[in-house]
Amino acid sequence: MAFFHHMGGGMGGRPHSNDTRLYDLLGVSRNCTDAELKKSYRKLAKEFHPDKNPENGEKFKEISFAYEVLSDPEKRQTYDTYGEEALKEGTDGDGFFSSRGGMEDIFSHFFGGGLFGGGGFGGHRKPRKGQDMLHRLKVSLEDLYNGKTSKLQLSKNVICQSCKGRGGKAGAVQPCRVCHGRGVKVTVRQIGPGMVQQMQSHCTDCDGEGESISEKDKCKNCKGKKVIKESKILEVNVDPGMKEGQKIPFRGEGDQQPGLEPGDILIVLVEKEHDTFKRNGNNLIFKKTIGLTEALCGFQFTLKQLDGRELLVTHPPGNVIHPGSIKVVEGEGMPIYRDYSAKGDLIIHFDVQFPENYFKPTETLMQLETILPPRDEAEISKDAVHIHLQEFEGTKAGGRQAYEEDDDDHHGAGPQMQCAHQ
Ligand SMILES: [Zn+2]
Ligand SMILES: [Zn+2]
Repeated sequence: MAFFHHMGGGMGGRPHSNDTRLYDLLGVSRNCTDAELKKSYRKLAKEFHPDKNPENGEKFKEISFAYEVLSDPEKRQTYDTYGEEALKEGTDGDGFFSSRGGMEDIFSHFFGGGLFGGGGFGGHRKPRKGQDMLHRLKVSLEDLYNGKTSKLQLSKNVICQSCKGRGGKAGAVQPCRVCHGRGVKVTVRQIGPGMVQQMQSHCTDCDGEGESISEKDKCKNCKGKKVIKESKILEVNVDPGMKEGQKIPFRGEGDQQPGLEPGDILIVLVEKEHDTFKRNGNNLIFKKTIGLTEALCGFQFTLKQLDGRELLVTHPPGNVIHPGSIKVVEGEGMPIYRDYSAKGDLIIHFDVQFPENYFKPTETLMQLETILPPRDEAEISKDAVHIHLQEFEGTKAGGRQAYEEDDDDHHGAGPQMQCAHQ
């Protein structure tokens, strides 16, 4: 099993493929936005739709394939990094390639019907593939805003080069004599007259491999294990605007095993909590508490943006901020993934802190009243009854405290109350 070790930051480049065929097919540039991509695909798909254009079926498949890849951030990244070849290897399970299914899905999404008549693309036979490995990488909101390259040290199994993964000299590998190469032992037990029970168990002699190599023929390098541990450093590029849960694929970097295509390593981003901001999609949420004076008479405050800039927020006197007001600063949210020109918004939620009780003597408050908006004076009848306001601490029926007291009573008095009823 492979494991990881964090190496810390540092910027670095990633391999870039020169392959732009899929972008060319859709007539878009390599750094086009998702919206541009979609627009172009829609236009071309209509133009080359097999209903209108039966002789151009291949072209339609091609542009659909290009769109399937480029509209999926993970596939697009794989393509940008490794080129089209990398897309052709199928993956199992929750890998990042939906293979043929995905294409039909896109098609029905746009045009509401099946198209390929089950033919699909490529007809590629999938080789057996090892397990994909997930690794969670914690990243700060700053990293997701600015982008970052993380180095991860990985220890994984690779095929032993001395024996080419055979485990010993050519011809030295024999079927296990205990299990006859089946990897399991079968024991038969008589459990009654004429009744036997067959039991299968993992062969411990060959550890379920079905093979054995005599001690003297075993490969010296891997001690007959066929694989050796190797240390490798992965450079993980966290791009601006990436999100919690997004997977960064490293194709074929999983553990190697003879006879299996190695699985992938998938780095899954986990966003750390931030002291100042909460993220909501491409927007940043900031909670700000101001005093009553600021709410009425205006204010200024500064806010440190995730790229280190100090933002100065100014609000004029008289433009009253109510408790719960929400204001927006356009374009000061998170960068949008793969759209280098756009950002989300900064959304500020205001809370207004009112002064403490009796913060000024009554005479001063009467002065204050002279400048505040006039009261809503209601006529009071002579018969009105005086009542007093108290702090609210929950009603008797629904209050938490009242409920807990009741509960205690029942524990002691329960059985007696039952008797009384009878
Ligand atoms: Zn070896
Ligand atoms: Zn065996």
